[in-house]
Amino acid sequence: MYPRSPLESIKKFHQELVAVRRDLHANPEIGFEEIRTSGIVAGALTALGVEVHRGIGKTGVVGVIKGQRTDSGKMIGLRADMDALPMSEDSVSDYCSRVPGMMHACGHDGHTTILLGTAKYLMQNRNFNGTAVLIFQPAEEGLGGAKAMVDDGLFDKFPCDAIYALHNWPGLPAGVVGINPGPMMAASDKFEITIQGRGGHGAHPYQTIDPIMVAATIVTTLQTIVSRNVHPLEAAVLSFGHINAGSPSAASVIPGQAKLVGTVRTFSDNVQQVVETRMRSLIASIAEGFGATAEFKYVRNYPATVNTALNAHFVADVATDLFGAEKVVRDMTPSMGSEDFSFMLKKVPGAYFRLGQGGAEDGRFLHNPRFDFNDDVIPVGSATFAALIERGMPLQP
Ligand SMILES: [Zn+2]
Ligand SMILES: [Zn+2]
Repeated sequence: MYPRSPLESIKKFHQELVAVRRDLHANPEIGFEEIRTSGIVAGALTALGVEVHRGIGKTGVVGVIKGQRTDSGKMIGLRADMDALPMSEDSVSDYCSRVPGMMHACGHDGHTTILLGTAKYLMQNRNFNGTAVLIFQPAEEGLGGAKAMVDDGLFDKFPCDAIYALHNWPGLPAGVVGINPGPMMAASDKFEITIQGRGGHGAHPYQTIDPIMVAATIVTTLQTIVSRNVHPLEAAVLSFGHINAGSPSAASVIPGQAKLVGTVRTFSDNVQQVVETRMRSLIASIAEGFGATAEFKYVRNYPATVNTALNAHFVADVATDLFGAEKVVRDMTPSMGSEDFSFMLKKVPGAYFRLGQGGAEDGRFLHNPRFDFNDDVIPVGSATFAALIERGMPLQP
């Protein structure tokens, strides 16, 4: 077991952290607008005596804590995301969102609080040889706040040797840590296909180039990329989220144009490339076969979140020492969702792990209007982060 577990120390100020979490929950702010939130984070860090850097990635905050010794020269980063979602909360709790149309439905209020708990513990103890970099990032939800921080020189200013992040997970029991020595989350890409045909009378289709037929053929044929072009042991998802052509009040009009929008999810650069290349080729040849043309836009949003095996095993070992082997899942199934910590993992080796919090059994999934972060797991998250610092940069190697 861990010689001196940070868990018991952190439990002593659990209620103080719960109050912080509920205040953040009641006052959600969306991506790059975390003015109040980043102010609270910076204020809390300053009050603890942590060196604070602001304005990295607009509303991003970085706290730097030096250990009792720093001659190891090592630096480890811990990341928490701070933003909420533009959606309405369905809750009667006394700390439910006070901002109409905004809600902490992904638990980033909990992640921010967890990292503040780690900061307090590390400042009280400094049981490490090196520098801890506490990264509070904005705009994880679709706006790429992690990329904004990296582009602002996060790792030039703070050249971390390893980085870690966690995300609460309603599908795991409370207090269980889940990780995988490889992919955790998928790359998330978006595509748009605009098909140009020739409109005309629905009774005289031979005079037209029907873009709806082209669209329908594209929708079904592109599914063969996953089944025929991607290796059966690799993963890819290709989903259409929007299809539009013609008008519901014009039953006998063949429209001139059709538009399709969708998403592609993959775990490896190679599979991502295969899918995009095959899409481009099939779309062009199907359109040509019908005498139509097609414009294809493919945008790579978030890369895949891929753990380094070494760092993932380290997280699992640290969590096992802290909480026991029965509380650690070492072969967590990756999610086809995405996460912008991937931009940081592209620069620095590290690992992203899940912190079980329960709730899925009642339908309180991430991004559900009834979701709420489970305050019981705050010390578990804070202690895991703290132990990654203490064990990753030990005073006595
Ligand atoms: Zn989310
Ligand atoms: Zn999230």
